[in-house]
Amino acid sequence: MTRPEPALSVVVPMFNEESVLPLFARRLRAVLDALDEPYEVLAVDDGSTDGTAAGLAGLRARWPQLRVLRLRRNSGHQAALVAGVLRARGRHVVSIDADLQDPPETIAEMLRRARADGLDIVYGVRADRSRDTRFKRWTAAGYYRLMRRLVGKQVPAQAGDFRLLSRAAVEALRELPERSPVLRLVVPWLGFPSGEVAYEREERAAGRTKYPLSRMAGLAAESVTSFSAAPLRVATWLGLAGVAVCGMLVVVAVVAWLAGGTVTGWPSLYVAILFLGAVQLLCLGLLGEYVARIYTAVQARPAYFVATDTDTDTDTDTDTDTDTVPAPEAGPAPAGPVGPAELADSLR
Ligand code: UDP
Ligand code: MG
Repeated sequence: MTRPEPALSVVVPMFNEESVLPLFARRLRAVLDALDEPYEVLAVDDGSTDGTAAGLAGLRARWPQLRVLRLRRNSGHQAALVAGVLRARGRHVVSIDADLQDPPETIAEMLRRARADGLDIVYGVRADRSRDTRFKRWTAAGYYRLMRRLVGKQVPAQAGDFRLLSRAAVEALRELPERSPVLRLVVPWLGFPSGEVAYEREERAAGRTKYPLSRMAGLAAESVTSFSAAPLRVATWLGLAGVAVCGMLVVVAVVAWLAGGTVTGWPSLYVAILFLGAVQLLCLGLLGEYVARIYTAVQARPAYFVATDTDTDTDTDTDTDTDTVPAPEAGPAPAGPVGPAELADSLR
């Protein structure tokens, strides 16, 4: 690295945020300048088609700490976040939305918590969502409940993408082979020491939400499928249930046949249809099991992260002799309940 590391990077994904940009920049800059430490603001222009790019260029002339990363096309909030976080240079990296729903003032508190308590991750947790619509609150509550079931209790409820990461956590993310991780699930899964800072979710200061229902549904679907092979097992369970029901109905058919109250040909047809249906579902389930195996293999997530090893000088060392399991150069990353096998177990 040629340039010195700033103490803090603030990553801001932006998609068509021209109306909120001046307001946001003013509030963020006031907070960051007051920190009195070197910082960078990394605005990720997610292929905006309005005046966002021009606005950012204008700001840059007066705000040397502003860095702009423009994505070639609109790639979505998560992708923009990943692009920014992985390119940030700071010793701490905070991601924040541009619409002032996450108050920039909380950044100072996050940084203070991280330093005081030696935390690698500090989540901004929404203390009050009364200003979100009821629908948004319901869907969010459902989403977080599901995610805590899938990933584990370390996923904080009501924590979106407003969070602070240490350099070690960012490096651990970088080592993940995944191309498009769902950060709000993968970050807790890394197992770093973490804390929470409560904040009040404000109303969008200007402009409209870029998260219509279809995108929320897309994020939920991606969250589930990126952490769980459970949907693939549906066929197995249906097949097993089908076999059980088939068994009972075969008995019914045989009894009816013996009693002589059946149309000729009905029992044999009936049994054949039931049997074939159940067998097909079971075979689909079996395929699903193998697809699930392929899926975890392709994800190639490390089975564990080494937090410390008394046998090495620095705690950022990683084992070089783990040839089957790639151990990323995560810093002090305590091993959480990780590993595809355990994950798969927890999903059953
Ligand atoms: N965003 C983005 N790319 C997109 C959609 C959204 O970079 O394709 C940014 C957006 O500019 C904002 C943040 O992601 O800074 C959160 O989006 P938004 O506020 O619209 O979502 P909501 O708060 O309504 O869930
Ligand atoms: Mg918003």
